[in-house]
Amino acid sequence: MTERAPEALVIVGSGPAAWTAAVYAARANLNPLVFEGEALGTMLPGGQLMTTTEVENYPGFPTGVTGPELMEKLKEQAVRFGTRVVSEMIASVNFSTRPFVLRPNYSEEIEAHAVIVATGANAKWLGLPNEQRLAQSGGGVSACAICDGALPFYREKVLAVVGGGDSAMEEALYLTKFASKVQIIHRRDRFRASRVMADRALSHPKVQVLWNKAVTEVLGYEEITGLRLQDTVTDEVSDIEVSGLFVAIGHTPNTDFLGGQIDLTPSGYIKLPHAWRTETNVEGVFAAGDVMDDYYRQAITAAGTGCMAALEAERWLAHHGLGESPVLETAETSIGRSDATG
Ligand code: NAP
Repeated sequence: MTERAPEALVIVGSGPAAWTAAVYAARANLNPLVFEGEALGTMLPGGQLMTTTEVENYPGFPTGVTGPELMEKLKEQAVRFGTRVVSEMIASVNFSTRPFVLRPNYSEEIEAHAVIVATGANAKWLGLPNEQRLAQSGGGVSACAICDGALPFYREKVLAVVGGGDSAMEEALYLTKFASKVQIIHRRDRFRASRVMADRALSHPKVQVLWNKAVTEVLGYEEITGLRLQDTVTDEVSDIEVSGLFVAIGHTPNTDFLGGQIDLTPSGYIKLPHAWRTETNVEGVFAAGDVMDDYYRQAITAAGTGCMAALEAERWLAHHGLGESPVLETAETSIGRSDATG
């Protein structure tokens, strides 16, 4: 066991939720330690925004900001108030002892009285080589229509959406606002999406569905020019011309390192027992951002829940004699878990 004193608060993650939590915690003198992760395959510290080009819907940036620039600014703000940052992932945790124990990939394990998990969720990709390259270079491949669909690049163009779930329907319908035509490409002959969403997409005049088709190649060098498709019934290969590809085949929340010690929802997101609170089923462990949110998944909502988690952690630590006086104490809401729903 390590000999250094336990940390008051460790934040795991490096997206908008993690950095916002760090800003609040650092300004509350909790001296937070952030494990921001490390580059691994298509995963980068900074999360999903690192593969987003222009962000136009984050308040406070009237002319937009690139995803990486926004993350750099958020980190800078956290560091300015004394946040310490380790560029490593947490490989595993032990939440059954107190203080909690966190084991980074390479360095020594550390102890922490409170933890905020803000490890996000990764969009699933098809796994095609050109797909990742064009997604990272802003060449017309994206996994988020709401983030990227309104960019001039995609306007009045023929766009493709891959997937047959609610996300694919939602992305396709959203893109009809800007595109001249949206082609949904689905590997089966029926959608997984809810009836209402599927009907909405199917009846939209700009939407066309290519059934029983798998994307086997993304075509184009600097920008996407088309897709190579293979019929999943006949194996027939065909090419289509598109100017944008939106991959909407689901997300994977990053919870493996928790080793089943935190309750998850059936789809694998961290389950929060109390509405409008970020504490998990383990007292002292809080969750923020996309790792606990399969509904909004926006940078601004992640940042909001990061703020909530830091304030809750501060209050929880103070209640246990660690740190300064509690915040959020009101006549309506007193300290303690039992009244956490206010
Ligand atoms: P999902 O329901 O898991 O659907 C994923 C879709 O992608 C499926 O149609 C699947 O095909 C397809 N797919 C998966 N891997 C693929 C691959 N490698 N190549 C080609 N296609 C692939 O995921 P989701 O649509 O993101 O939805 C997740 C959850 O969030 C659901 O519970 C959903 O209802 C909910 N959600 C709700 C709303 C809303 O209510 N407004 C919006 C978005 C999401 P198969 O069908 O063949 O398996």
